Amino acid sequence: MDKSAAQSKPTSTIVIQPVLTVEQVSYQYQISSGDWLHRKQLSLQALQQVSFDLHRGETLGVVGESGSGKSTLARIVLGLLRPDHGRVCWRGEVLHELDAEKLRSKRKELQLVFQDPQAALNPRMTIGEILAEPLNTFYPKMATLQVRERVRGMLKMVGILPNQVNRYAHEFSGGQCQRIGIARALILNPRLLVCDEPVSALDVSIQAQIIQLLQDLQRKLQLSMIFIAHDLSVVRYISDRVLVMYLGQVMELASCDDLYAKPLHPYTRALIQSVPIPDPDLEHAHTERGLRGEPPSPLNPPVGCPFSTRCPYAVERCHQEKPLLRPYAERLITCHRVEELADEFSTSTVRPSAQA
Ligand code: SF4
Repeated sequence: MDKSAAQSKPTSTIVIQPVLTVEQVSYQYQISSGDWLHRKQLSLQALQQVSFDLHRGETLGVVGESGSGKSTLARIVLGLLRPDHGRVCWRGEVLHELDAEKLRSKRKELQLVFQDPQAALNPRMTIGEILAEPLNTFYPKMATLQVRERVRGMLKMVGILPNQVNRYAHEFSGGQCQRIGIARALILNPRLLVCDEPVSALDVSIQAQIIQLLQDLQRKLQLSMIFIAHDLSVVRYISDRVLVMYLGQVMELASCDDLYAKPLHPYTRALIQSVPIPDPDLEHAHTERGLRGEPPSPLNPPVGCPFSTRCPYAVERCHQEKPLLRPYAERLITCHRVEELADEFSTSTVRPSAQA
């Protein structure tokens, strides 16, 4: 990815109060298993005591493998799922305590950019109709001319020619469809944009363009943003802080610079070591130290530390006792051994080359 994208990342954010506060949020899915004769209900713990906050104009990267709870977290933040425990506060109001009408009104401020842009756009509607739909729903009295102007202005803002307004989604490339998806998410002037793996379905060169577009829009509109990805190299270029998740729990939360310069959680280090290096010699040594095996099933998580079954630094205590999220070295971290490991890691590099 183009290094200039990283250099253009905003370096200072004026912070007063967080606009979003997620406090001790837990969520369980109830799923059925077995055939009709032996059907049983199982509980899948998707999120466990997840806490973080987000400020105006800030981007929080959320990273983890499949099954880490990233998408569930996105849906809870957007008020689409109600947490079993804990609460989500958006600009001073607890989302799941709002009545249906107020929650609907709040949803204008909270918008989602989907992972698969082509699947997210209705194939039977023109892109103009797709963008006009939220305006017609939330502002039924808005004049047709005003709707048209807003749609054309938004298309222009995301880099789509306004004279293509009568075309259908299948006439656009994947990158263009994601631009249209972003335009649809922004058409209601939201304050928070939740991007759920918005570039994972795109080519690397297109990924960089979409990330650059999101950065530009965020700065221009002073948006707060949650950017979800399974790849740490992607969130690096856009995030102010990064939240690393594993099996529904927060493993590490740190500023982007601290996290990449000195990752302290063994899972964060393994994720960084798993990012491919475009050099065959370095790549071999690098992946030797990367993430190994598969995460355990969330239906049967480990008793102690969730990462204990894959952690090369696990000791007896890790298999028996659950570590708590706690502050350490200007970050939050979930690891029994962080003090010892911080010493050990201070003499070793995460990547065999200079930090990419
Ligand atoms: Fe590894 Fe133990 Fe720390 Fe978990 S608590 S990350 S198993 S060292």
